[in-house]
Amino acid sequence: MDHFDFKAGELHCEAVPLSEIAREAGTPVYVYSAATIRHHARVMKAALEPTGDPLIAFAVKANPNPAVLAILAAEGLGADIVSIGEYRQARAAGILPDRILFSGVGKDKDEMAEALAGGVCQFNVESVEEARTLSEVAIEAGLTAPLGLRINPDVEAGTHAKITTGTADSKFGIPAREAMEAFRIASRLPGLKVQGITVHIGSQLTDLTPLEASFRRVGELIAALRNEGIAIDLADLGGGLGVPYEPGQPEPPTPAAYGAMVERVSKGWDVRLAFEPGRLIVANAGVLLARVIRVKPGERHPWIIVDAAMNDLMRPALYDAYHHIEAVRPSGDHIIANVVGPVCESGDTFAMARDMDRVDADDLVAFRSAGAYGAAMSSGYNSRPLTPEVLVDGKQWALVRRRVDLADCASLPLPKWLLPR
Ligand SMILES: *Cc1c(COP(=O)(O)O)cnc(C)c1O
Repeated sequence: MDHFDFKAGELHCEAVPLSEIAREAGTPVYVYSAATIRHHARVMKAALEPTGDPLIAFAVKANPNPAVLAILAAEGLGADIVSIGEYRQARAAGILPDRILFSGVGKDKDEMAEALAGGVCQFNVESVEEARTLSEVAIEAGLTAPLGLRINPDVEAGTHAKITTGTADSKFGIPAREAMEAFRIASRLPGLKVQGITVHIGSQLTDLTPLEASFRRVGELIAALRNEGIAIDLADLGGGLGVPYEPGQPEPPTPAAYGAMVERVSKGWDVRLAFEPGRLIVANAGVLLARVIRVKPGERHPWIIVDAAMNDLMRPALYDAYHHIEAVRPSGDHIIANVVGPVCESGDTFAMARDMDRVDADDLVAFRSAGAYGAAMSSGYNSRPLTPEVLVDGKQWALVRRRVDLADCASLPLPKWLLPR
């Protein structure tokens, strides 16, 4: 469900026509719907309510925009962070440290020290080596670091290889068969409070089976650890639930079905649960709004060249991802076309041989479901400015990231020896 709808023949975000935003903010531009973000947060809360009082920690990497984080903070969500930059963004948005989970395979000592002093809920640690470093940092600070170990359950998630994280040869987590020993070692290290177990097997999962298999591994480990006197208080089940991107494709499982599965599997665990949804909360709450620069004839199909490119929205180039592309004012005519950006890479391709609304030069198009891993992954490649972001909330809208021109040479320091004489 989202709040992008056609009214009087034009695509709107809530009550605002997209052409108004294009005119005033320029294109390309990301447009987010506050009502959709709130709706998704509430659907997720309702779906997980039967599992007790879970911590729902938004995966900040999906969309770190301060306005988005502020909306989610107001909805009571916490944050799953993977860098100290994300920690600061979450704190600045009003998310309390005891609702922050620190994930990631490469936290460095400075990052650990700052998050520890801030009082995060848990460090999700991915190796015994990392646990040793965290122990040193905690001793140095005179504090106790709350620790959960991330388990790699070795299940195939059935998603794109680049967003699969729970197979044996993945860099993430501790192999399940080594988990008991890792917990024993960590529980003997000074400065640590071993309290949690965590798992995250991948993203854009469209089947509950691999999730259920990995959660069962978690349950077995909780029981085995209790037997050894290692008490687990928090089981963090990660994120990963997929969203519908492509019309006509089977819909991914609903949050309610996911919640019911978790409730069934986690019965008797006697722990608090945590979740780290990213995409599910924001993907369908955003579009990338672009303008057609020109239509160039092609050998098989015309090339629709738009002013957005792979630097603005990397998912098609990186994951072969599908984004639905719609005219903001569809004429009713259709064409088969290739949709590309201006960047000098063949990978700068959004769609090939796509049956879509007929558009011409200067027409506006919307790339749907671009609210997750869109602006967050954008870059200035080809010396293109970072795309601005707009938040719509009912009838109002505001710019929530300016167009950032990284190519502004005047501000770049040239080394002294290269200065023109
Ligand atoms: C990326 C990530 C998430 C969020 O994944 P989604 O598919 O967006 O829900 C959650 N937890 C961890 C550890 C991650 O790396």
